[in-house]
Amino acid sequence: MKALVLAERSDAIAELCAGARTVADEVVLVAFGDTQVPEAVADKVAHIALPEGAVVDDAADTVIAAFDAEKADVVFVEPTKHMKVVAGKLAAHLGASVITDVIAFEGDVATNMFFGGVGMKKQKAAGVAIYTVGAGVFAEAQASGANAVEELAWVAPAKAVKLVSSKAIEKSGVDLFKADVVVAAGRGFAAKEDLKMADELCEKLGAGLGCSRPLTEGVDWLPTEVYIGVSGLMLSPKVYIAAGISGQMQHMVGCNRATTLFAINKDKNAPIFKQCDFGLVGDINTVLPALTAAL
Ligand SMILES: Cc1cc2nc3c(=O)[nH]c(=O)nc-3n(C[C@H](O)[C@H](O)[C@H](O)COP(=O)(O)OP(=O)(O)OC[C@H]3O[C@@H](n4cnc5c(N)ncnc54)[C@H](O)[C@@H]3O)c2cc1C
Repeated sequence: MKALVLAERSDAIAELCAGARTVADEVVLVAFGDTQVPEAVADKVAHIALPEGAVVDDAADTVIAAFDAEKADVVFVEPTKHMKVVAGKLAAHLGASVITDVIAFEGDVATNMFFGGVGMKKQKAAGVAIYTVGAGVFAEAQASGANAVEELAWVAPAKAVKLVSSKAIEKSGVDLFKADVVVAAGRGFAAKEDLKMADELCEKLGAGLGCSRPLTEGVDWLPTEVYIGVSGLMLSPKVYIAAGISGQMQHMVGCNRATTLFAINKDKNAPIFKQCDFGLVGDINTVLPALTAAL
């Protein structure tokens, strides 16, 4: 059995390669551009150097050529925006489908979430299995391999994405994937200055600050790299504290694999109270300072 891994971040590379090793005797990692590849994670690292001005999405044709050469049985994909595009194009080429948001495997049966985590389904891939797998699913697995590097020849796409402009992503300083505790702020925060309450709680708890999407794309109070959910980060911290977040499925899919989920909301009927381990009905303007003071 041969597995191909498509991933961009070092943590995800290590974890998906480790997971691939649990089912395959040969693991091939496809690495893009200047991605940091951890040591000893795969038998082969098929490296794609991105031509000047090319975006990762356009590496899909090179990945397809690599797949055709490798003839892998299974593909594990990190669920980033770019990797999802590449996986979709690979699946179209193979006449296969991508099984998304997989949260567990039993042999070749994958359990995946749908409707943003509201439902679960067990399914077996027909043909080549292509899975997007979030952080934590293979946390216990151990990667291994000689990392023999092979440079892949760039296959130019018929219609390349035209890069019009780019700007550096504002970094928050915290890697939410590594944080044991995440405090997430939602639209319950009435003003940007109020995020100070969440910051102070984070400081006490040694937590990372994330948010729901409206706080990044609606009002731009926090960088887009820290919003959590189906189109943002999919996290599995030990503790997740959702403050002023209603519990829409698009957000919850990014946090419902936390070991313990706390919710603070002033509306006792907020949907999040049906999805959390501990819920507190209260105003964040009172609860958060009291919590921080008590810790
Ligand atoms: C295709 C698509 C993809 C999406 N992807 C994402 C995604 O990845 N991540 C994401 O987060 N969203 C995503 N969304 C948006 C999502 O549907 C919700 O709109 C969003 O998650 C709501 O954010 P919220 O809970 O912060 O805000 P709201 O739904 O407005 O909830 C605010 C909550 O705060 C409570 N509240 C108000 N004031 C206080 C107070 N003083 N104290 C305590 N509680 C208070 C309210 O009772 C309410 O429950 C997506 C939507 C679509 C259509």
